[in-house]
Amino acid sequence: MTGSERGLPDGVLRVPTVVAHPDDESFGLGGLLTPLSDGGVPTTVLCFTHGEASTLHGRPGDLHTVRAGELACAAWELGVHRVELAGHPDGALVDIALPRLAAEVARLVGEQRPSHLLVFEPAPAHDHDRPRRAATTVSRSVRGPRL
Ligand SMILES: [Zn+2]
Repeated sequence: MTGSERGLPDGVLRVPTVVAHPDDESFGLGGLLTPLSDGGVPTTVLCFTHGEASTLHGRPGDLHTVRAGELACAAWELGVHRVELAGHPDGALVDIALPRLAAEVARLVGEQRPSHLLVFEPAPAHDHDRPRRAATTVSRSVRGPRL
């Protein structure tokens, strides 16, 4: 079945998503992840932090654990096939060397050979922009069609 027969552009085969925090996959990119999943495209969310620095505190408990559970639930609702939750410190991704973050994206790209990478649009220099910058670094180094 072609992509257009599934309601997607042709050539959309595997789409990893790279985000900073649990919930970024939902409010930022959920509107794309669900149609991809519904169209049979395997999706993965690589989340760099557990979101433990959130100031919302809508639920009691250790945010490190609570937000990991929320990410798993959201991924299930969105039809995401796989979630990888890294343990970088929330609120401090700008302190992590970009090549280190890019290496994590590169490992995922090497494993999955995706057709596309899904990230946030450019943002001011804070946690939300690091995944985009790491993914862009990797996509520029990959041979073949642009990710
Ligand atoms: Zn966020």
